[in-house]
Amino acid sequence: MSGRRLDALIIGGGHNGLVCAFYLARAGKAVRVLERRGVVGGAAVTEEFHPGFRNSTASYTVSLLQPKVIRDMTLAERGLRIVERPISNFLPQADGGYLKLGGGLERTQAEFRRFSAHDARVLPDYYAALEGVADVLRDLALKTPPNVGDGLGTLIAAARQGRGLARLRLAGQRDVLDLFTKSARTFLDGWFESEAVKAAFGFDAIVGNFASPDTPGSAYVLLHHVFGEVNGKKGAWGHAIGGMGAITQAMRSACEEVGVAISLDAPVEKVLVEPAAKPGGRGRAVGVRLDSGEELFGAAVIANVGPRLLYDTLIDPSDLAPEFRRRVKGFKVGSGTFRMNVALSELPRFTCLPTPGEHHQSGIILAPTLDYMDRAYIDAKRTGISKQPIVEMLIPSTVDDSLAPPGQHVASLFCQQFAPVLPDGRHWDDEREAAADLILDTVERHAPGFRASVIARQIHSPLDLERKFGLTGGDIMHGAMTLDQLWAARPILGNGAYRGPLAGLYMCGAGTHPGGGVTGAPGHNAAREVLADMRWWRRAG
Ligand SMILES: Cc1cc2nc3c(=O)[nH]c(=O)nc-3n(C[C@H](O)[C@H](O)[C@H](O)COP(=O)(O)OP(=O)(O)OC[C@H]3O[C@@H](n4cnc5c(N)ncnc54)[C@H](O)[C@@H]3O)c2cc1C
Repeated sequence: MSGRRLDALIIGGGHNGLVCAFYLARAGKAVRVLERRGVVGGAAVTEEFHPGFRNSTASYTVSLLQPKVIRDMTLAERGLRIVERPISNFLPQADGGYLKLGGGLERTQAEFRRFSAHDARVLPDYYAALEGVADVLRDLALKTPPNVGDGLGTLIAAARQGRGLARLRLAGQRDVLDLFTKSARTFLDGWFESEAVKAAFGFDAIVGNFASPDTPGSAYVLLHHVFGEVNGKKGAWGHAIGGMGAITQAMRSACEEVGVAISLDAPVEKVLVEPAAKPGGRGRAVGVRLDSGEELFGAAVIANVGPRLLYDTLIDPSDLAPEFRRRVKGFKVGSGTFRMNVALSELPRFTCLPTPGEHHQSGIILAPTLDYMDRAYIDAKRTGISKQPIVEMLIPSTVDDSLAPPGQHVASLFCQQFAPVLPDGRHWDDEREAAADLILDTVERHAPGFRASVIARQIHSPLDLERKFGLTGGDIMHGAMTLDQLWAARPILGNGAYRGPLAGLYMCGAGTHPGGGVTGAPGHNAAREVLADMRWWRRAG
């Protein structure tokens, strides 16, 4: 296919690249996906990390994947099965007790009553408030943000998209303001009195967020984690049987069926740019050069990679305006995430609840209070690695027997507050093993004997995440989900509608609206914009 001018070239075969490719090819366009690794899926892949033990390597739990994408790509028909867990979370407490979250409103209320009658009473109102705002987000997820700079069109689009907000009652509008501006702690203090309850909800605020629950704006990250659904159940998180790779392998099959060409082991080295015809004009992205030296040409060049990777390394600085380059440098990345998989000979026995049970099937959060989370962040800011890290452990083999040999298990350890870059010239390659030990010790404190049950481990420091998946600063969302980097300002105000600063250049990854997570939304929306432009090009002759 080399030399032939395609309709679209997509840099990266992450799930958003695949979704974008699917919609373009389904509309009759000739599309080629160029993936650096030997497997599609980006941060949504399953790998065997020890003989007989497979697990999702990076992302590990599903909720945000858009139902429309699941339907359009017929992912269920291609074998994708997402199962819900009996309860969502289990939080061992410092006093030897525990809190369970989920399993239905009444059960959660009964559980909360052990901590605070008040918290149990207000829970339905809390859920209703969160749901009201989450519905607004759900409504915006598949819409293109207005592109600031497009004049009247922007104003009309902004007004249309603001209708969902305007329709909220005053209390709902206050909730929006709170969630978009406040810290998670301030927001949760307004609802609850028990520290355990606040931790159970506040954990979502620091997932993929190198920040304290006291950081203003962290309440929004909490909201971002509840706008999804599993099999129609809003706010729930589930497990994809076979791991996250099952999602992207089904996407790959959908792409191939509509004629997308997928090239693996095909890293892109540079975006090829035709200079502007006039001084001060816009250049045009016309194709890409691969590491192999091969050059490919396409009417649209669509980047699934994050904004920093695209603009800092794949485009020649001389092809971008200095002001734009400066803005890109200011785009915040680095979610402070450390990710491990472990193969286990047996289930962990928690001191607070040693018998096997539904808690083993839930997200086990080792961070009992917001104070603990704040200390972890401050520690990591100062020394790079928190002495008492925040660990979420999922044991997917308790709901999926395809991942480990009978009687044995795999666990995902998703750990937060590990500085993207270590201070004082220290290097992650020298400290990753010690950080992994610290994480295992953290679990061991709650479940004695855990360390001895570890048969093998797979480690991803922030630097490993960058090297393996191309995530700049190891950022799991392609960039911080802060108010200044959301919606029309994701990645940069004026380029928030999937179009880059060069003609023919588009973005379709998590660094665009609505941001990180396995959602498929950026890929879906970007395809719509590319198709709209292609229709316009045809009309314009
Ligand atoms: C550790 C971790 C845990 C997470 N947990 C969850 C979770 O449980 N649930 C959830 O919903 N989300 C989770 N996320 C977030 C989610 O996985 C990502 O936000 C999402 O996968 C991003 O998808 P994407 O398609 O936009 O980009 P990516 O998945 O980053 O895909 C980009 C692709 O581009 C490729 N690429 C990079 N450079 C080049 C190049 N030069 N040439 C060609 N190809 C290139 C990469 O190899 C990659 O395949 C997690 C992420 C991580 C890292």
